[in-house]
Amino acid sequence: MIIAATTTTNDELFGGVNDFFDSGAWMVIRNLSIFFFVVFWLATAYWVFKDARRRIDDPWLVTMATVLGLIPPFVGPIIYMFFRPPEYLEDVRERELEIQAMEDRLSKGDLYCPVCRAQVEASFLVCPVCTTKLKQACVKCASPLEALWQICPFCATPVTSTGLPGIDDTLTDSWTAPRRRAAGPE
Ligand SMILES: [Zn+2]
Ligand SMILES: [Zn+2]
Repeated sequence: MIIAATTTTNDELFGGVNDFFDSGAWMVIRNLSIFFFVVFWLATAYWVFKDARRRIDDPWLVTMATVLGLIPPFVGPIIYMFFRPPEYLEDVRERELEIQAMEDRLSKGDLYCPVCRAQVEASFLVCPVCTTKLKQACVKCASPLEALWQICPFCATPVTSTGLPGIDDTLTDSWTAPRRRAAGPE
């Protein structure tokens, strides 16, 4: 009304504008605008929450990212996009599994003496290069036995040995520490 009072030539125009702003239509438009603003604001924050959950393992950091997605509105999600981790967690896990599988394949493919790194075969009892003891032989059939075997798979003779390695011990550990089998008949 101040504008309308100070201008004389455009009285009717501003009068019409003011009527429009005072009208119910303006209220509806304003309320709708606020409604869509809030919906869009919450939607972007929810998107940040979902995206952070797929990329960040720590629940606390996910919460922080969600708060950033809420405040400041619309700017927070953009800031989040600058600093979010580049990869999805599932991609990281998949890659780690692939690397693990590849390492398993490599370790199964070729065996090496743990002392001199000469290539040896699975059936070798002793490294032919440095004479390190690699495996036990079965007392009955003399087949090479893997470190964790409790019984010879070829003749069903129980493996009698002292100081069996734990489950966590690798084959290499058992190779570097040759075990003495208890002497005597089975
Ligand atoms: Zn060797
Ligand atoms: Zn045997």
